[in-house]
Amino acid sequence: MMDEGKKRVAVVGGGAAGLACAVMLADCCRVTVFERNDRVGKKLSATGNGQGNVTNTDMGPQHYFSDDGEKVAAILLRFGWRDTVAFLESMGGIFLPDARGRVYPAGRQASAVTDLFRKTCMEKGVCLMTGCRVELLQKSGHGFMIRHGGGEETADAVVLAAGGMAAPNFGTDGSAYALARDFGHTVTACTPSLVQLRCDPRCVRGLKGIRNASALTLLRAGREICRMEGDVLFTESGVSGDAAFRISPYVRAGDELKIDLLPSVTEERLLHAMARAGDDPLLCIVPNGLARVLARKTSGDVRALARLVKAFPLTVTGTLGFSYAQVTKGGIPLQETDASLMSRLCRGLYFAGEILNVDGECGGYNLQWAFASAAAVSRKIAGGER
Ligand SMILES: Cc1cc2nc3c(=O)[nH]c(=O)nc-3n(C[C@H](O)[C@H](O)[C@H](O)COP(=O)(O)OP(=O)(O)OC[C@H]3O[C@@H](n4cnc5c(N)ncnc54)[C@H](O)[C@@H]3O)c2cc1C
Repeated sequence: MMDEGKKRVAVVGGGAAGLACAVMLADCCRVTVFERNDRVGKKLSATGNGQGNVTNTDMGPQHYFSDDGEKVAAILLRFGWRDTVAFLESMGGIFLPDARGRVYPAGRQASAVTDLFRKTCMEKGVCLMTGCRVELLQKSGHGFMIRHGGGEETADAVVLAAGGMAAPNFGTDGSAYALARDFGHTVTACTPSLVQLRCDPRCVRGLKGIRNASALTLLRAGREICRMEGDVLFTESGVSGDAAFRISPYVRAGDELKIDLLPSVTEERLLHAMARAGDDPLLCIVPNGLARVLARKTSGDVRALARLVKAFPLTVTGTLGFSYAQVTKGGIPLQETDASLMSRLCRGLYFAGEILNVDGECGGYNLQWAFASAAAVSRKIAGGER
């Protein structure tokens, strides 16, 4: 009875952004979350290698790609990493940064973050409709009609938080863009990001499984595009690992990668050490498996070997694609939304999370966008926008 008269909000997608909206709005609205999977937060539970890297203390628009950097900056300014931590801790738990500023739940369990959302939704009376794929959204009077597998509902406002195209096994195959297109929205070209790089297999032959702390430099037509330091993991078809993921948003097929396999040591110091080592010049310098492959490529030429350690070349042929990507580059243009991420084409329709044309670097930036965009939307729906 007490809920009578409250604004009814339908949230399409029970991922990080949709659940955050639901919790943020639950005190002042009647919220229903429609989730096509049999449970909410499936992708959230898999984040950060299962540890849940929810945000980063080094926060700002410079870590994001979008069609409207100023809007991203404004939204992050109003809901930064500390707000994310405060929001999550208001539901329970402790969230702590590691030495690189990546914030995780103290228990290092992403699924526990999903549990926190699910528990809070239950406590606050949010209706979680799982196994419920939204097939059609339409304007109906002053509100909306939401058609799903099990029937139809109405709502005063709709938040489209149905994710992008990355990792379709979590329910995000890009089909939800059609719900926005029906209102006249466009979708930019989409490409996979934060994903393993595919390279000419001859370059990585014999290296599969070797992990090494490295610096990657990306070159296009001989010009340096960017450089990332971190772990590189050689795979059968290319390179993975933290540094490869972080450089993937910038990569195009045909680019060259130079991997510095010993970034903290100069070539001169390396040559000096190799001269002392005799027959096994890279012993204790790089992993043995890597040393063997490098030695084969240079047939005993010590200078060539040192150069290879400092600039191991790879030709990028592409990425492993959406199935292996963590995030979608592209989506609904921010310019089709107002400052609160409400559609400029349909009053009462809002967007939050990865469905928008915003993607962040690796390190907690995408979940931060999910939470910050949810906050922008919720503030407006709740009527608190000044
Ligand atoms: C393996 C992996 C690890 C990651 N690790 C990190 C990390 O550590 N830190 C970080 O910041 N980011 C990470 N990310 C990225 C991050 O998880 C996403 O950017 C974020 O979850 C996006 O939130 P979202 O709510 O917009 O979309 P999602 O979390 O994708 O949720 C969208 C939901 O909508 C549902 N849905 C889709 N269509 C419909 C429909 N028609 N009807 C009803 N429901 C629908 C989907 O089933 C899905 O549950 C990772 C991603 C992956 C795949």
